[in-house]
Amino acid sequence: MAEYDPDNIFAKIIRGDLPAHKVYEDDKALAFLDIMPRAPGHTLVLPKAPARNILDIKPDDLAHVARIVQKIAVAQKKAFKADGITIQQFNEQAGGQVVFHLHVHVIPRKNGVSLRPPASFKEEAEVLGDHAALIKAALA
Ligand code: 5GP
Repeated sequence: MAEYDPDNIFAKIIRGDLPAHKVYEDDKALAFLDIMPRAPGHTLVLPKAPARNILDIKPDDLAHVARIVQKIAVAQKKAFKADGITIQQFNEQAGGQVVFHLHVHVIPRKNGVSLRPPASFKEEAEVLGDHAALIKAALA
């Protein structure tokens, strides 16, 4: 497996070198909205510690990410009146991974509404801001 690249786009967001619509942050994890949401509210949850994916993350960091994934799912259900939540996590190119800092997709779902295809739609910053505010309010 390739080495972790500290200049990947999510490492830059964690360092604050690039912006993101953050919904949750603590000392070990960060959650922000996906810029190409497959459904409204599509959120990514990351460990702050460097890890390429499930194959190299420390188990304690993974456990913390799982706790935050659950928090976000519960908040999304409330914020978007979701009927369900889809969780996805991809590992290495063959596994569908595009950005090589571990992240978990948390996606609110409505009955009968299909996910948009991956990377098919870039959301407006204003809409992402509104959706981030809804999730933050539901987390409060
Ligand atoms: P994966 O690596 O799990 O296949 O997908 C990476 C995800 O990151 C995609 O859903 C894509 O839309 C999202 N993404 C890629 N670049 C950025 C970015 O600069 N900011 C944010 N917020 N999301 C991104």
